[in-house]
Amino acid sequence: MNASPIDGFHDECGVFGIFDHPHAARLTYLGLYALQHRGQEAAGMVAVTAEGLRIKKARGYVADVFSEEAMRKFEGAHAAIGHVRYSTAGESTSINAQPLLIDSKFGEIAVCHNGNLVNARQLRRELVSSGSIFRTSSDTEVILHLFARSDQKEVQDALLDALRSLEGAFTLLFATPTTLYGVRDPRGFRPLVLGKLGKSYVLCSETCALDLIDATYVREIEPGEIVAIDGDGIRSLSPFAPEAHRQCVFEHVYFSRPDSIVFGRSVHLSRIEMGKRLAREAAANADVVVPVPDSGVGAAVGYSIESGLPLEFGLIRNHYVGRTFIQPIQSSRDFGVKVKLNPVRSVLEGRRVVLIDDSIVRGTTSQKIVRMVRSAGAREVHLRVSSPPTTGPCYYGIDTPQKEQLVAASHSVEEITQFLGADSLAYLSLSSLMASVKNGEDEFCSACFSGNYPVPLFDESLGQRKLFEKTQDS
Ligand code: AMP
Repeated sequence: MNASPIDGFHDECGVFGIFDHPHAARLTYLGLYALQHRGQEAAGMVAVTAEGLRIKKARGYVADVFSEEAMRKFEGAHAAIGHVRYSTAGESTSINAQPLLIDSKFGEIAVCHNGNLVNARQLRRELVSSGSIFRTSSDTEVILHLFARSDQKEVQDALLDALRSLEGAFTLLFATPTTLYGVRDPRGFRPLVLGKLGKSYVLCSETCALDLIDATYVREIEPGEIVAIDGDGIRSLSPFAPEAHRQCVFEHVYFSRPDSIVFGRSVHLSRIEMGKRLAREAAANADVVVPVPDSGVGAAVGYSIESGLPLEFGLIRNHYVGRTFIQPIQSSRDFGVKVKLNPVRSVLEGRRVVLIDDSIVRGTTSQKIVRMVRSAGAREVHLRVSSPPTTGPCYYGIDTPQKEQLVAASHSVEEITQFLGADSLAYLSLSSLMASVKNGEDEFCSACFSGNYPVPLFDESLGQRKLFEKTQDS
């Protein structure tokens, strides 16, 4: 049996936490279920019971990791935090699954993380040289070591001590026997929202997780804000030196679910706007607008509205494809894409198609899709992309390949058009992308499109995935 991943890229991570609810663990399970799109590699939960913190984590989807039996160990829990993961730093083993749970001089504490610490390697080297023993290769573990070694007397002070040493992207949830903490780094790279369910507080990556459990969306946790939730209610702290906000624009382009509010704005509306602007910037002489599902759907709707061309679903996605599958004996060309997407000949045959996708990364998937649409009879294929050319890797928590593998880093639009085999290709401009996601004074990180990295990298030659592989050797 030959099991292989379907494609090269996957989402980053999602976090969910709840405080003061008799069904904390079950609600966390559901919250993670709603956030599954943010990470399909591993899932985990730590629940807070009167007897202490209990953990369950493993590789796999949320529904596979948490059986009825596994959930029984969480009975009586009044608070919990949970995580879905795709590794951006650290190897993909179950020991790297989150939350991470330790017992320290301050008592038990668990953490889960969405983002990527750009100084983790350096911190880890310092910690190891002064005696720390690391169990995982995840960048998140340094946070627990910094916390456990703090000279402070109180848990909260020790936590703030640890957090002030971190650089990069970190949305974090911590659970202790008494308190749930939510943290957003000062630039606010990754999202975190606050919700309420009766008297219980919820913290999670995206509002779609609040919707599933019938919780109300209260507000975003601000960049640089820490909230502490305990038996006395909620407190807000601002312990970091202020920085210019740099929320990740790619959350709106691709990562977040369209039914979520992220950075205070509807992801769906951002995508519609991207599509409308794309139609204005890059009109095509065509008969029909076809989205690449699911990521291209929002922009395709916007493109269709603005251009007046009909929107039709010319590619159908199989939603039941897991991360791995048994390969056919004689693997057909483009099998990895074909197992996921199938063309609808009656939509495509003889027509001039505007194909809409959210981004081109390596270009390999897009090439196969263009080929697929053509072989289903399309007369012309005009690819329109609702973001600018991806020219740089992300060092702040999104899994993108190294620069050499990004097709737009070293090729012109004309060259990419040829490579993909499309009749024409156009990307959304950076200014239009920014205008599409704009929400008041919010500022965004666009490093993957602009090369403008808001946090300096201590080792530019290494992608985030490599950060720790080196450390382990040292
Ligand atoms: P490619 O053919 O390699 O350019 O892949 C482009 C496709 O990957 C697009 O359909 C995107 O929606 C999707 N994509 C872009 N970035 C990521 C990512 N970080 N993780 C998973 N999929 C992605």
